[in-house]
Amino acid sequence: MTDRDRRAELTANLGRVEERIATACRAAGRPREDVTLIVVTKTYPADDVRLLHEMGVRHVAENRDQDAAPKAAECADLDLTWHFVGQLQTNKVRSVTGYARVVQSVDRLKLVGALSGAAERAGRELGCLIQVALDAGADGRGERGGVGPDGVAELADAVAKAPGLALGGLMTVAPLSGEYAGRQRAAFDRLVDISARLREAHPAATMVSAGMSADLEDAVAAGATHVRIGTAVLGRRPPLR
Ligand SMILES: *Cc1c(COP(=O)(O)O)cnc(C)c1O
Repeated sequence: MTDRDRRAELTANLGRVEERIATACRAAGRPREDVTLIVVTKTYPADDVRLLHEMGVRHVAENRDQDAAPKAAECADLDLTWHFVGQLQTNKVRSVTGYARVVQSVDRLKLVGALSGAAERAGRELGCLIQVALDAGADGRGERGGVGPDGVAELADAVAKAPGLALGGLMTVAPLSGEYAGRQRAAFDRLVDISARLREAHPAATMVSAGMSADLEDAVAAGATHVRIGTAVLGRRPPLR
């Protein structure tokens, strides 16, 4: 595909996603500015990030440091906010802290300590969202990362106290199994409930990151402040090898 074709494709896709968000906001009686679009650029090249930036996108997300670090470096001249949304190993924390302004996948105390240390050493403040696993098993952990609802308060307190970190709010991925499987709206309603409780102790933790290509309408209806959209903007990803 030529650059020109790719530009046309991304413009059309982005337009459709913008329209979906605007329609969902209208249906929910929410102002459009309430919802921030984060484009998930994982598996797609820096050239696409550059085109999206030209089209006005300012928030992008990645889930693997190996792909994200070089891409962010190639795009360092652009005023972009990078969000990290994948499961994060402590040995990658230093790299991620180099480019990400927000880590949305904070799900254990050990990670809080590592992120705090790295943010302090880098001399920057890192926004943190607690990833909530609504499908958490008896061990309180989700299959794709995240901490069960019962573990949110302890982690949030730890982030709020940690030097170099700012508690931004909550993130979830709609569960594929368990009581919320296929019930995205109920899952996002639950996340918003947990967020309301969190804000009693941490009033500034207002971010609610929920909703992907297939379910952004449910997320906006439930009250999400940030939607994370990959496929609907960039196209279907090749399966991970
Ligand atoms: C890939 C990904 C998304 C985007 O998913 P799409 O279905 O492609 O829109 C959102 N959130 C997380 C955590 C992801 O890993």
